[in-house]
Amino acid sequence: MEMLDVVGIGIGPFNLSLAALIEPTPLRALFLEKRDGLVWHPGLALPNSRLQVSPLKDCVTLVDPTSPYSFLNYLALHGRIYSFVNKRNASTSRQEFIEYYRWVAGRLKTLRFSEDAKDVIPFRDGYRISTNTTTYLAHAVVVGVGVEPKIPAFARSLLCGTVYHAADYLERSLPHAAEHVLVVGGGQSGAEIIEHILTRSVSTQITWATSRSNFFAIDDNSFVNEAYTPAYSRRFHALPLQQRRDIVEGEMLTSDGISVDLCNRLYEMLYERSVDGTLADRFRVLPNVVVKDITSHNKSWRVDLDEITTQRNSCILVDRIVLATGFQPRTPPFLEALLEGACMEDGLPVLGVDYAVRFGRPMPGPIYLQNQSRVQHGLQSANLSLVAYRNSQIINSLLGRPFYLNTSDRQMIQVYAPSDASERDGGEVAMRSTRQVSGGT
Ligand SMILES: Cc1cc2nc3c(=O)[nH]c(=O)nc-3n(C[C@H](O)[C@H](O)[C@H](O)COP(=O)(O)OP(=O)(O)OC[C@H]3O[C@@H](n4cnc5c(N)ncnc54)[C@H](O)[C@@H]3O)c2cc1C
Repeated sequence: MEMLDVVGIGIGPFNLSLAALIEPTPLRALFLEKRDGLVWHPGLALPNSRLQVSPLKDCVTLVDPTSPYSFLNYLALHGRIYSFVNKRNASTSRQEFIEYYRWVAGRLKTLRFSEDAKDVIPFRDGYRISTNTTTYLAHAVVVGVGVEPKIPAFARSLLCGTVYHAADYLERSLPHAAEHVLVVGGGQSGAEIIEHILTRSVSTQITWATSRSNFFAIDDNSFVNEAYTPAYSRRFHALPLQQRRDIVEGEMLTSDGISVDLCNRLYEMLYERSVDGTLADRFRVLPNVVVKDITSHNKSWRVDLDEITTQRNSCILVDRIVLATGFQPRTPPFLEALLEGACMEDGLPVLGVDYAVRFGRPMPGPIYLQNQSRVQHGLQSANLSLVAYRNSQIINSLLGRPFYLNTSDRQMIQVYAPSDASERDGGEVAMRSTRQVSGGT
């Protein structure tokens, strides 16, 4: 059996980008996905949903603008590049980005679908990766299995056709006009679902509850976006754990808020309904509210609520509950076993700047983790902002040399610590990433 250089497990946007950026390298790679084709959070592919970052944060552009797998090349080959520019709004829909991802996937020869990775165990100078159908050998593994729904403990045993996570929203029957729907969660997914229900029917009764004190918008002004650059990420990685935790906590709304456009669209819709009289008591917004319990009540659900500021308890009866309660990193059983000897930092595996897990014992090859390091690398590790940069680091690490050059944009926000060498390395050293042609194949 051939020993590959690397096997990637999971083909979401993160490992798809890795596959695209690996193509011009000499690395022998395969990528395995348990689904039978490329999807991107299909239960939330709502018609109005927009990409929350620039489409230039595609699989490749920010490290290799000359790659054939760029969003711009996709537009050009599909005859839309002029109209994209003409629409004077550089954003795109999630639907269009899914099509772009599918287009990239269709052109790469290293992807294998319907391969569910079950087991990864050390084998000679690498790993044996067993799927539902096949076994592969590789010197290194990149785990990109993504996120899974975060479901409150009280709801886990109740999941059914009328109590489900937002991730399943489009895969269930849609709410009927005569129903009372409770949406729990004041983030982007909750807001998108509220908009979808409001758009489909004026009659559906909606309660929107969140423990947040309001429906806060994502903060993505230009200065804030400096936190989503390679230089910032490297500086962040070098900080002590407590500081990293505080930053992640303090900057959460730069990643986890509702897009401003959507906030304003929703408010406008509610305003119009209050004008034409269709709002009446059919829409209730409950900030500062924690859902404590759900119990079955005749053919409805009784939901116990705690109001945070007044500490008053109350309950409501609803027909359907959508839990827009967020996502958490997925840790399949094979990963738990594999990470047994990993160095841990407050319950989390320690990752190097190259996203490789640090182990306390010799391992037969590196294991890289995608989408599992908010506290290690910063909030950008869970979104698309640095997807191409992350993968350029993994590729350089696999090759043991800089195939993708790190040359930095000059930061608009400078760091006040010029004498500190680690700051200089993270912040000032050139990191503009373009392909080093000498790498060659
Ligand atoms: C609804 C939604 C919208 C988002 N929108 C944005 C946005 O606009 N901008 C932004 O920057 N970020 C966004 N994000 C955040 C982030 O970019 C996405 O979560 C992104 O999908 C992460 O990519 P991924 O490859 O890590 O994971 P995923 O997309 O979750 O893909 C992981 C893949 O691994 C597969 N897999 C799992 N286990 C196995 C196994 N054992 N064997 C084989 N395959 C396996 C899964 O089937 C899946 O296809 C969004 C997140 C969500 C939930």
